[in-house]
Amino acid sequence: MGASATEQSRPLPARETVLEVEGLHTRFELDDGVVHAVNGVDLAIGRGEVLAVVGESGCGKSVMARSVLRLVDRPGRITAGHIRVRTDDGTADMVTADPRTVRSVRGNRVAMVFQEPMSSMSPMHTLGNQIGEAIRLHEPVTKAEARRRTVELLGRVGIPAPARRVDEYPFQMSGGMLQRVMIAMALACGPQLLIADEPTTALDVTTQAQILDLLRSLQQETGMAVMLITHDLGVAARMADRVAVMYLGTVVEEGPLDDVFRAPRHPYTKALLRSVPRLGSGSRERLKPVRGMVPHAYRRPAGCPFHPRCDAFMPGRCDVTRPTPVRAADRPGAVSCLLYEEEDPA
Ligand code: SF4
Repeated sequence: MGASATEQSRPLPARETVLEVEGLHTRFELDDGVVHAVNGVDLAIGRGEVLAVVGESGCGKSVMARSVLRLVDRPGRITAGHIRVRTDDGTADMVTADPRTVRSVRGNRVAMVFQEPMSSMSPMHTLGNQIGEAIRLHEPVTKAEARRRTVELLGRVGIPAPARRVDEYPFQMSGGMLQRVMIAMALACGPQLLIADEPTTALDVTTQAQILDLLRSLQQETGMAVMLITHDLGVAARMADRVAVMYLGTVVEEGPLDDVFRAPRHPYTKALLRSVPRLGSGSRERLKPVRGMVPHAYRRPAGCPFHPRCDAFMPGRCDVTRPTPVRAADRPGAVSCLLYEEEDPA
């Protein structure tokens, strides 16, 4: 990777785009083989937009999200592509950016909330110390000011008695409260994009709904964009403006939530939607799990990666040719499936 901090010569395509991922590949070279966890992802997020990235476990959603912030642990590494983030003076490409630029983008521009808040917090330090530290890392404010802002942030994310709880330790909080603290920490420096990786998976249903409502209201209040990584289509339906469906490291369908969920085009999206209950459908309607399993990470099928599980499989085509994204003539978004190859390439 090079050291160019700011990519002035290649602006983001739309003025309001805050993140553009293009041709991203992230792979893990292990003793037993190479895992292509992210295998050519293209996506973009506009200012104030909520994009849900959905798909079964093992489809590369989290690795893609971590790649955006260069948080993939060794032996994982980004091998190709661009991750363009809007900055004050142009665009930073996180793939080639130097460590100083990467640090400045993290927190200042793009923040992340993880599934397990405990794993990203220190058990040895109070909430006030940890959030205050995050504020002071990015802004030259006094300790007293950082503490004042921390109390304000804790109140904003719904922590009761924030002036008292600021001095508590993570182990003194419930799972839902800790996730609120993580969100407060992520908001500390006013990011333009929040990446939330399965932020409610470890929580009970009631707390899950509260955290999603909180995220939605903070997003509307601040105008930040949100990339929501989730395997739960109900969570996506509740939150998203747009959806990207991932399968084996690639985006197979993307578009506005209503289009994708009401009239899915890709056979994988259709199968995913058949596997969950739909609002308004008869209670006797049988749910159908997606046929087969996600293939073993080392054995990526040739041609279309979904072909061993696809009900519309075309022998001699789907197992030979890898589909590329095509745009629909009548709606925004794109789909990667040979059934649509006559339409315009995306
Ligand atoms: Fe199914 Fe073929 Fe489309 Fe892949 S390309 S999703 S196998 S129809």
